[in-house]
Amino acid sequence: MSNTLHFWLQTPLREMNTTQWEQLCDGCGLCCLNKLEDEDTGDIYLTRVACNLLDKCSAQCSDYENRLSLAPDCIQITPELAETAEWLPNTCAYKQLAHGEPLLPWHPLISGREESPYEANRSISGKVIHESELGEREHEEFIITEEELTSSICYGN
Ligand code: SF4
Ligand code: SF4
Repeated sequence: MSNTLHFWLQTPLREMNTTQWEQLCDGCGLCCLNKLEDEDTGDIYLTRVACNLLDKCSAQCSDYENRLSLAPDCIQITPELAETAEWLPNTCAYKQLAHGEPLLPWHPLISGREESPYEANRSISGKVIHESELGEREHEEFIITEEELTSSICYGN
């Protein structure tokens, strides 16, 4: 592949067009998981409780176009957020680039294959429950680290 096609190496996040910006998302789904914040320490804990709009099998948003109106807690990733948001996973492509890191080998733009995040076990596909499935249970019961989540094959409800 010619280096001229590697737009992410040549174009700062703030100057990317919409197509380039969207191509950066590897579809891992990690940003669609609920987080808990310790009010005393500010520490953020990841849970494997996902936004109800997330397709649990594909780990993709089921209505990406209308997500911001359908899911009030959904946050549009921006270059500013990529630089500053502690809650974004460290492996998020936007965060990687915002901090001067290269895209990871399993990123589809590197591998040339959309399936590679799933094959590298980086996707949350099959590992999460929906908020609507919590019932009487608390988010705390579903706290998990990014490493645990991405090193597991599957979790039940
Ligand atoms: S964490 Fe980053 S790369 Fe993964 S789905 Fe969210 S925006 Fe895309
Ligand atoms: S609305 Fe879609 S993109 Fe936003 S958090 Fe939910 S599943 Fe993710």
